[in-house]
Amino acid sequence: MPNPQKIAHYVEDNAQRIVETLCDLIAFPSIVMSDPSKAGPGERDCHLYLEERLRKIGMETDLWEPDGPALYEKYAGRPGAHKGRTFEGRPNLGGVLRGTGGGRSIMLTGHIDVVPPGPMEHWRTDPFKPEIIDGFVHGRGAVDMKGGVACMLMAVELLKELGVSLAGDVVFTTVVDEEIGGMGSLAMVDRGFRADAGIMTEPTANRIAPLCHGILWGRIIIDGIGGHAELTPNAWYAGGPVDAIQLCRQMLDGIDILNRRWQFDPRKNHPLMDLPNQIIVTQINAGEHPSSMAGRAEIIIDAQYLPGEKDEFGLGGHVKREIEEHVAHICQADPYLRKHPARVEWILDADCAEVPADHPFIGAFQHAVSTASLSPELSGFGAHSDIGLPTTLGQTPTVNFGPGDPSQAHQPNERVSIEDLVACTKAIAIAVHEWSGRRVS
Ligand SMILES: [Zn+2]
Repeated sequence: MPNPQKIAHYVEDNAQRIVETLCDLIAFPSIVMSDPSKAGPGERDCHLYLEERLRKIGMETDLWEPDGPALYEKYAGRPGAHKGRTFEGRPNLGGVLRGTGGGRSIMLTGHIDVVPPGPMEHWRTDPFKPEIIDGFVHGRGAVDMKGGVACMLMAVELLKELGVSLAGDVVFTTVVDEEIGGMGSLAMVDRGFRADAGIMTEPTANRIAPLCHGILWGRIIIDGIGGHAELTPNAWYAGGPVDAIQLCRQMLDGIDILNRRWQFDPRKNHPLMDLPNQIIVTQINAGEHPSSMAGRAEIIIDAQYLPGEKDEFGLGGHVKREIEEHVAHICQADPYLRKHPARVEWILDADCAEVPADHPFIGAFQHAVSTASLSPELSGFGAHSDIGLPTTLGQTPTVNFGPGDPSQAHQPNERVSIEDLVACTKAIAIAVHEWSGRRVS
C-alpha cells in the first residue's frame, strides 16, 4: 500500500490532468433552467462524459432519468421534493468501485448543473470556454462546483493508477437540479446510493464543513389602497389611500428588530457559523404608477435556520411559524394593518444537516486534510447545500469539502485556483485511502 506522501506526490505530478478534467467539464453548458423542460442538452452530455471516465476506472455505472412526479408523490412535504419537476433528458449518474470486502465505504458526491452565466458583458472570458489565467481556471462552474467534481474523480482515478486496493466501496454520484432545489440528490438517495460516510465537494475553500444552513424563501404581501400621490388624501378609514411603500418601511424595520433578537439567541447561533441566522430582504416590488400611491408591496426574504430548529418533517416549519407570528405582531402596531394584515407566502424550504464532530469520519478526514497540508479546522457552510439528503434520508453522514472561494459561486468571471484543486484532490485521495483502504471487520 502506498503511504500518504506517495499519494500526495502522485497527485502533484498529475496536476495538469486535474486542470484538463475541469476544463472538459466546464465546456459542457450544463445550465439548469428555472423551467427544467427548457433545459438544454448540456447536463446529459456532461454526464455521458463522466460515465465514460468512471467506466475507465472500472466502476459499475448507472445513468438514469429520475421520475419526477413519482418522486414527488413519494416525498411530498419532505426535503428536496418539488412539484412538477421533470428530468427528461436530464439524467443523474452513479458509479460504484467495488472494494475487496470488509472495509468502510465512502461516497463522493456533487452536482454538475450550473446557473446561467448572466449578462455576457460582465465576463472577461467565454463562460463555457475555460481559460487558465495566472494560476486560475476561469469559467462557469469552476467553483460551483465542477472544480469539486473534477477533484473527486481524479482522486479515485489516481488512486487506481497507484495500484491501491481498497477494502471498502467507493460510491461516486453526480446529480442535476441542485441549483433549483435539490431533487436530483433526492433521486440519487432514493435510488439507493449510500455509504458509511460522504464528501460533497461544494466549494468551502478546502475547509471541512460538517454543517450547512437551512433556507426559507418567503414573500410578505402588503396590501395598501392606491390613490393619487399629489392630491390631499382622505383618511384611510374614510376610503382614502394607504401607501403600501410606507407600510413596507414599517415591515422592514420590524424585520430588523427580529434580526437583532436573533443575534444573541443561542438557537440562532452555532459555534461553526461565522454569523447568526438572519432574515435577509433580497427583493422589494411595490407600486404601479409614478403618480399613484403604491396599492401593493411585496417583500421577498431569505431566512436561515439550523439543524437544531428542524420540525418533524426535517424542514423549517417552526421558523416559518416564528416569522409569521412576528409579521402579525408588526401589523398589530398599525391601525390600518391591524385591519388588513400582511400575508406571508412560502416559496422554498431547503433543509440542513450536521454531522457531529465526534463522528469517526470527521477525525479521519481531519487527519487526511492535515496530511495534505491543509487546515483541519471545521467550519460551517453559511448557505444551503444538499448534504441533508444523503445525511438524513440516505443515512450517509456527509460533509462539505471542496476547492475554491465559495463567494465566487454564481458570479461572472468565476474562477478556482489550480493550487486549491491539487490540494483538494490530495486530501480526498488520502481520505479515501485511509477510510476505505483497510479491512475493519
Ligand atoms: Zn453548488
